[in-house]
Amino acid sequence: MPESAEEVQARIQTAVGEGGRLPMPPVHEWEIFPWELIDGELVPKVVEVIEAEPPRAGADGVGCFSCVGDGNAIRIWENDRWKVTHPPAPTGLPLVLWLHSKEHLDFADMGDDLAAEYGRLSVWLCRIIERMPHIGRVHVCRWGDGSEHLHTWFLARTARLSPVLGSFAAEWDEMLPPPPEEVWRADLRAVATKLANHDGFALV
Ligand SMILES: [Zn+2]
Repeated sequence: MPESAEEVQARIQTAVGEGGRLPMPPVHEWEIFPWELIDGELVPKVVEVIEAEPPRAGADGVGCFSCVGDGNAIRIWENDRWKVTHPPAPTGLPLVLWLHSKEHLDFADMGDDLAAEYGRLSVWLCRIIERMPHIGRVHVCRWGDGSEHLHTWFLARTARLSPVLGSFAAEWDEMLPPPPEEVWRADLRAVATKLANHDGFALV
């Protein structure tokens, strides 16, 4: 079962003391980080036009993590057309999962039947995870700027844990101390088993 807000807070306090701040993650070093410090003030970066879109990982399937990398080692569920994977180790949020097509496609390349199945799987995943204890919401995100292969993020955040909300839940995933591995693995198993009640096979 995912941890409660009080359990997450207790682990934070063990790490940094009551009222303490977690260490800053290196997000400010990312090229896409939108702000910079100028004269002690955090301000938006200057917007520029670049020559061309940067190349994405796995373009045309070459060296694609999802197709030929170790993406299969972290599967929790699959059917003939889709698989659900997890990060190699627990991260700050209670659950982070990715839904990938098995075929090398971009999001907008899905045919109507595959898109309909994507919709059903997304709703099932959200419903399953949002009904777990202590989960406030599952954020479903498709960015696609990093890797070409169709993959959608499912970011589950803890209920009543402020200010871990909205799109910044993705940044809190880098900052919050991860849950115990046995709690995380039991939750992965629970999600995979429940999804397999609808379709496909649990692999954990
Ligand atoms: Zn691929």
